[in-house]
Amino acid sequence: MTIAFITGSSRGLGLALAELLLKDKNVKVVGISRHQTIENPKYEHIALDLSDLKTVEKFRFHVDEYDKYILINNAGVIEPIAHVGHTFSTDIVSNYNVNLIAPSLLTNTFLRQFSELKKPIHIINVSSGAGKHPIDGWSTYNASKAGLDMFSLVIDRELKINNDNHIRIHSIAPGVVDTEMQGTIRNTDIKNFSTVDKFKDYFSHGDLAKPSDIAKKYKKVIDNPDDFPEVVISVRDF
Ligand code: NAP
Repeated sequence: MTIAFITGSSRGLGLALAELLLKDKNVKVVGISRHQTIENPKYEHIALDLSDLKTVEKFRFHVDEYDKYILINNAGVIEPIAHVGHTFSTDIVSNYNVNLIAPSLLTNTFLRQFSELKKPIHIINVSSGAGKHPIDGWSTYNASKAGLDMFSLVIDRELKINNDNHIRIHSIAPGVVDTEMQGTIRNTDIKNFSTVDKFKDYFSHGDLAKPSDIAKKYKKVIDNPDDFPEVVISVRDF
């Protein structure tokens, strides 16, 4: 039996990933987010606010024995969307906490708890193309996702140095997906983000991917990690 911990499982891509993995009779899913939306005998929910780092620091995963352990750091926030100097410091802190610091803490705890078991472990970080290209108004989001990519690359290097071949890590950008986050992006005033019309066009032209289709691409990486030797990848490439 595999256990998959997924943050941000209440909606969007995290919900689609949880629902897809739950279809596999050999996978149990533990979702971590503030709200619970899934009811399934193989699903367990942990209500956690990932911006509250004191709680995230103390968080421990189940210690039961499984054949494979998966952690998907999917939860994320786009806000604040505004040029630097025109936003609140508390919003910047909250974004980094959810998008970068919580995934770093959870990954550290996950590896501390499970790496010695020598069972297959796979960490998937949900990153973004925004971590590779500057977008005005998105400084914190872009920096958080660039950080997540680099965090993943360093872990991969450490695993190779330590011959920890049973552990894999990928940082995967999902493309542009039809979720609440895209609604937030489209509803931003152009003065805070000059290319907002591009995102309105994606929506009106039907260019947004369905979360369930993108979840299938993530599952491809989970099922065939050896086919994806690069750590930082995008679903647009396969
Ligand atoms: P979404 O629909 O807004 O869902 C975000 C999820 O994150 C929700 O389940 C939410 O759960 C959880 N979350 C947010 N703040 C949280 C907090 N403080 N504590 C715990 N959980 C929290 O967004 P999405 O589009 O599915 O995004 C999923 C991931 O894909 C994110 O990392 C995002 O950056 C990335 N991404 C999305 C796109 C896109 O086009 N949609 C593009 C590139 C990358 P609760 O509200 O229940 O806590």
